[in-house]
Amino acid sequence: MTQSPKIITRFAPSPSGDLHLGHAYSAKLNYDFARDNGGEFILRIEDIDHLRCKAEHEQSIYDDLEWLGLKWPLPVRRQSEHFDDYAAALSTLETQGLLYPCFCSRKDIKAEIAESTRAPHLRPKLGPEGIIYPGICRPLSADERAEKIASGIPHAMRLDMEKALSLVSDPLYWTDLKTGEQLADPAMLGDVVLARKDFPTSYHLSVVIDDHLQNISHVIRGQDLYYASHFHRLLQYLLGLNTLSYDHHALLTTKDGNRLAKRDKSITIKSIRESGARAEDLDALIKDYL
Ligand code: GLU
Repeated sequence: MTQSPKIITRFAPSPSGDLHLGHAYSAKLNYDFARDNGGEFILRIEDIDHLRCKAEHEQSIYDDLEWLGLKWPLPVRRQSEHFDDYAAALSTLETQGLLYPCFCSRKDIKAEIAESTRAPHLRPKLGPEGIIYPGICRPLSADERAEKIASGIPHAMRLDMEKALSLVSDPLYWTDLKTGEQLADPAMLGDVVLARKDFPTSYHLSVVIDDHLQNISHVIRGQDLYYASHFHRLLQYLLGLNTLSYDHHALLTTKDGNRLAKRDKSITIKSIRESGARAEDLDALIKDYL
């Protein structure tokens, strides 16, 4: 499929805490890439998780990015205002018979995994986010599903990965700006949750829909999401969307090799700007963690 001719990048933080140096690095890479290529930089607020996202953190994001000297078009897309778009995508997948309800609690999944470790032929498969879902709810009949739903047991919606892959006739590729064409390998994630029990979408679904609706051409994000690009390529295929180019940057780490965390106040942009530092000093600071 053809790519959007205009270069559009985005920075898409979740307002679940204050941004830190790693976020500033990511935002600046996106901003500079767009600026250097005559493109556009977009800010998106990924706030689907109403329990973790807070208005005060969203305000901090705007203040931090402004202090960094970044500019972005208004209005900013806030995912919590677009659940309809995600519902429409879910319904497209549902019509293709690719979704199933999953009633499992974390405890159920843990117990199933513990059980299967005892049987060598059923050894659980390891994916990039840990052991993949062992498929407990996949074989439920339509009646069993309807009964559980009617009795009010909360459920997530999962993609049936095997069924989804059976619809892919030719191998899927996506472009990594550093390493070139990548053969998409979404199976490593298993039956991904596309709508959660507590809200009717997921990171993976919303991000793919928004990148499409906002005509993003280049996604520049951390190396920790490299695996996600494999899966996002599959979702684009199933939903009939164009694919994009991706770049995965190094993650900032402390001297002991730990990733920066939002809870570490000393490296938040807010604390850095409130200490009287200048935005120009940030590049030198970022280098200390690269
Ligand atoms: N909201 C996601 C995060 O903060 C964005 C990930 C992405 O860029 O796709 O990690």
